[in-house]
Amino acid sequence: MNETPWKVSLHGGHSGEFCDHATGTLREVLDAAIAAGFTTYGVSEHVPRIGEQYLYENEIALGWTVEKIVADFERYGAAIFALAEEYAERLTVLRGFEIEVVPHGSYVEVMSGYRKRFKFDYMVGSVHYIDDISIDGLPKEFERALELHGGLEPLAIRYYESVAEMVRALKPEVVGHLDLIRKNGYLYGAVDTSAIREAARATLEAVHECGGILDLNTAGWRKGLDHAYPEPWLLQMAHTMGVPFCFGDDSHGPTLVGAGIDDARRYLLEHGIDQVTVLGRNDDSVFRREVSLV
Ligand SMILES: [Zn+2]
Ligand SMILES: [Zn+2]
Repeated sequence: MNETPWKVSLHGGHSGEFCDHATGTLREVLDAAIAAGFTTYGVSEHVPRIGEQYLYENEIALGWTVEKIVADFERYGAAIFALAEEYAERLTVLRGFEIEVVPHGSYVEVMSGYRKRFKFDYMVGSVHYIDDISIDGLPKEFERALELHGGLEPLAIRYYESVAEMVRALKPEVVGHLDLIRKNGYLYGAVDTSAIREAARATLEAVHECGGILDLNTAGWRKGLDHAYPEPWLLQMAHTMGVPFCFGDDSHGPTLVGAGIDDARRYLLEHGIDQVTVLGRNDDSVFRREVSLV
């Protein structure tokens, strides 16, 4: 009998084997999940960004190329299936991936192609780029996006519109860190003006229509923000609209597996949310169900 059926993370499990900014091996991540008391754990490695212009400075410094990150992801696609089988008795490993919305003009085909080719159990739909410029990385890049869009409010609105477009196009099971725009945005002004809230509401309508689950993502706390993603007004708006939540530790190495999940549970309960939606798997069939947090 699993006493904490709510303890499922659907976003995370990145490892140094397949990601420049993570540590450890995938096997170490899964061992850490067992040690942390998970019985179901979702792994959602990043897809490669197809284009030299999207390589991170760190990847360039390491001498990595697009070919290299494509090959790494293909290795991941094979490894996650092999390890899920090997760990099946001890841990249900959900075989997922976290998408990118680049290249801007062709990401829908690229992501659908990866999903089909590897038969992933689920997809985490995240937006780290707005019209091909990263909003998740270095401030200088964020400033380029601000300049291009004419300030923080129009940029944040465009961000939420991009999430809605992605959700409608790909129908991801999980929508990642819905207010990621806060990560850099809060340094430049308010990311919760009434116009931004309206854009977020329209995005939540898309998530609701498409049956998406919002990732209560604990990385917000680790990035020095005052709240996890999403922050309270957005959390409440989503809940009022009937959009469900799951947990995401957004772990990038074994030491971060499960990080912040207990706090995330309390955070939901404090805001009147007393259940999460989890995914599970029997052989190759993925199911979803609501689980009480109390
Ligand atoms: Zn990452
Ligand atoms: Zn992400």
